[in-house]
Amino acid sequence: MNSNQLTKVILPMLIALLMVLPTGAVAQKKPRSAASNSGAGSKGEKGPAHTRLPRDPAIVDALRQVSAQRIQQTIEKLVSFSTRATLSVNNPDAATSDKGIVAARKWIKSEFERYSADCGGCLEVKTDTFVLQPKARIPVPTELQNVYAILHGTDPEQAKRIYLVTGHYDSRNSEALNSTNPAPGANDDGSGTAVSLECARVLSKHKFPATIIFLTVAGEEQGLDGSTHFAKMAKSEGWQLEGALNNDIVGGNRTPGDTLQNNDWVRVFSEGIPAAAADADIRRIRSTGGENDSASRVLARYIHEVSETYDFGQFTPKLIFRRDRYLRGGDHTAFNEQGFAAVRFTEYREDYNHQHQNVRTENGIEYGDLPKFVDFKYVANVARLNAATLAALASAPAPPAHVRLLTTQLENDSKLEWQPAAGASAYEVLWRKTTDADFPPENVTRTTETKIDMQQSKDNVIFAVRSVDGKGHRSLPVIPEPERGRNAPPLER
Ligand SMILES: [Zn+2]
Repeated sequence: MNSNQLTKVILPMLIALLMVLPTGAVAQKKPRSAASNSGAGSKGEKGPAHTRLPRDPAIVDALRQVSAQRIQQTIEKLVSFSTRATLSVNNPDAATSDKGIVAARKWIKSEFERYSADCGGCLEVKTDTFVLQPKARIPVPTELQNVYAILHGTDPEQAKRIYLVTGHYDSRNSEALNSTNPAPGANDDGSGTAVSLECARVLSKHKFPATIIFLTVAGEEQGLDGSTHFAKMAKSEGWQLEGALNNDIVGGNRTPGDTLQNNDWVRVFSEGIPAAAADADIRRIRSTGGENDSASRVLARYIHEVSETYDFGQFTPKLIFRRDRYLRGGDHTAFNEQGFAAVRFTEYREDYNHQHQNVRTENGIEYGDLPKFVDFKYVANVARLNAATLAALASAPAPPAHVRLLTTQLENDSKLEWQPAAGASAYEVLWRKTTDADFPPENVTRTTETKIDMQQSKDNVIFAVRSVDGKGHRSLPVIPEPERGRNAPPLER
């Protein structure tokens, strides 16, 4: 077919196809000037008719400070410790050596302290140290240390709400028990550690009503040990931890010759049925069709909305409705298991030659998790998305509490009620079809009251309610529970 025939045959077909498609399908690429009311994208794309959420200038400013160069320095510094194997803490010269996990954790702490010095001591830098008794991948009693910095909320009422970003700073090579040979861990998980540090650096220059924690954990490669200890501490101390962002393998691996990597995409994994769901929760999920609306999935959708609100160029999260990669695990699961909403960010396409491998060349293939395979601009995009999400959440009013769908009598409309939320000036009720992956931005009803009668059946849609403040910050949406409460007997047929 020559180009003339192409014009005569294909083009009319294409035009006919475009005419029958709904407009939303044509304007499939998201609008880039998300805050503008024009709805038109900056690249001439046709945006949807609805108005996007407003941007917070402070968050825009924070995102501008994220630096690919700083992230590169962080990752190269982490790699310079040669190995960050959790077991290297037991090596004879661990305390004084400039190699190994003790040197790495000391350096991470000093970085947090440096950022804090730059903001007048605004960060509380802490360590969570404990000894793990022998078990699989822990042959002898082993000291672990999580290192973290707290940016306390400025509003006494809101400061108890906590949002967290984490990455694991331990690394491994081909052997899980090796603590002496190089385990550079540039991507796994120097990249995630760098995201946590960079978020701390840029967000510590701002103040937020709610609290943000920047965490780096050890022991991931031995069995999620650092994060499990930390999440259990949060649970036992009654922290109001409303969302955890785990970044693990966010280096955007760029092996020469690999044409299948997509560095415009980062995957965001979220669990369906919550790991911590009790039997009563599971009965309610079955009865109400709540399989796709865990708190973690609500958090994942929030991240997507943030990506459409702020300017990330072509970079966008791809939500994966699965706990983690197929049959695999990560630190967010440790938080899920304690009942917290938590998601995992991971690059679009992993290269297994550059994870958990001894550094070597075999048959012309380079193995090992080296900085030269990391795309630092990509990590910076991931850091921006994390920082924007943390800042948006920590700026927002509290989510509405005790959100209920009244089900005391059978009726075809839907009555929702909730309790007032601190910092909220209004509320928005969202809804979507049960088959939709996300709440369409146009399906929003606003009210200043704490109840609403929606003229559509709860049988056919999924509702959520979120708080809004005077500046347009939105809380995490809350999926209502049936009024009968979670301890009621199973619903009638
Ligand atoms: Zn990892």
